[in-house]
Amino acid sequence: MQTPTVLINGAGIAGPALGFWLSRNGYRVIILEIANDVRPGGQTVDLRGTGGDVVERMGLIDRMREHALKQRGAAWVRSDGSRRAEMPVTAFDGNGLVSKLEILRGDLVGVLYEASRHAVEYRFGATIAALEQTDAGVAATLADGTRISADLVVGADGPHSAVRRIAFGPEAHFAKPLGGYNAWFSAPDTVGLDGWFLLYQAPGGLNASMRPSHDPSIAKAGFAFQSEPLDYDRHDIAEQRRILVERFAGAGWQCDALLAAAQDADDFYFDSLQQMHMPSWSTGRVTLVGDAGYCASPLSGMGTSLALVGAYVLAGELGRAEDLDDTDVASALARYETVMRPYVDRCQQLQNSMDRYAPMRESDIAVGAAVMKWVQRWPFRPLAAKAWFSTADSITLPDYP
Ligand SMILES: Cc1cc2nc3c(=O)[nH]c(=O)nc-3n(C[C@H](O)[C@H](O)[C@H](O)COP(=O)(O)OP(=O)(O)OC[C@H]3O[C@@H](n4cnc5c(N)ncnc54)[C@H](O)[C@@H]3O)c2cc1C
Repeated sequence: MQTPTVLINGAGIAGPALGFWLSRNGYRVIILEIANDVRPGGQTVDLRGTGGDVVERMGLIDRMREHALKQRGAAWVRSDGSRRAEMPVTAFDGNGLVSKLEILRGDLVGVLYEASRHAVEYRFGATIAALEQTDAGVAATLADGTRISADLVVGADGPHSAVRRIAFGPEAHFAKPLGGYNAWFSAPDTVGLDGWFLLYQAPGGLNASMRPSHDPSIAKAGFAFQSEPLDYDRHDIAEQRRILVERFAGAGWQCDALLAAAQDADDFYFDSLQQMHMPSWSTGRVTLVGDAGYCASPLSGMGTSLALVGAYVLAGELGRAEDLDDTDVASALARYETVMRPYVDRCQQLQNSMDRYAPMRESDIAVGAAVMKWVQRWPFRPLAAKAWFSTADSITLPDYP
């Protein structure tokens, strides 16, 4: 019998994690990544709750701990840098806004890639251009004309998934905009973060932030702002930088220094804040995992967990199948959806409004910071912990053979 082939588009978090599990289950796995290497960018992601459990089951938790970022907490600052409120890492027993085990997204991608690359065939600078479902499986045509026959094709290619567009339809059919945009990039640490994640909110729906990295001279910076949908070219970085300048020039705190850094940053990333809501994540022998199928948006803080748990469940359910005939594939994909759907719904329902993240009015900014102080105190503490920080554990991982 021929070894079944799974073709995965996208080598972010979900793709390599899925490749790791599927190759262990004896599949031939090919992962295509449109970039010329795994993309190292991004800020810290946390491994609390079930996402961390998956990493533990992969046997990679010690590798993650080696990369853990030393952090002291989050603080909300005014324009002059003085602090309105602080939430140390120790708040909520290490499960607060900044949790006790956080690593840079790039480090997570690197660990997943290293752990899978000997068993998985990675092809960089490659992407799927067309898909055709046949009696024998799926015939994929890559952008360079190469054809690959696979038993299953998985879109793990992020919120603007090409697989989703080809197999399910235009992004606009499934996207739920959250009313804003965000950008991430590296910048000089102009404030001496000393392990603190600093957030500055300015009236008009603006949020600027700086987080620590492994290099004390470099901060992981972020801008987010409320906005109606903008008409811009997703591939024109100069235009995206201009959009940020229009919003943040002269907005106070470190905004001007961060704007200057954004002009040169080679890891600059800009995107709309949106969720993906799909009635089904699978059609025939094509399915989606992670942001491609059920992006909850960075505001939810659950993107990494959803990708890791989704990959684990999809691989586990496929592993239960006798072989990969049409009936087996259909029931494995249906079970994947049954297990994941309630967790996805909870993550997408988390409080993720732009009004809270980047309030329009000074009074709301002040109230928001006061709330951050109060929630750490009795009697609000347990209520806040339940409301905010319990979602990460809201799925019980099935045990797969
Ligand atoms: C550079 C970068 C930085 C990020 N930084 C943060 C952050 O700081 N905080 C945060 O909360 N979330 C961040 N995210 C999003 C976060 O990684 C995801 O929300 C989450 O981890 C889900 O992972 P994913 O694998 O589904 O998607 P992603 O991590 O987005 O990975 C998708 C991968 O698919 C690749 N890809 C895209 N289109 C194609 C295509 N047509 N063909 C082949 N490959 C394709 C992308 O290059 C990427 O490597 C970032 C994503 C990226 C790509």
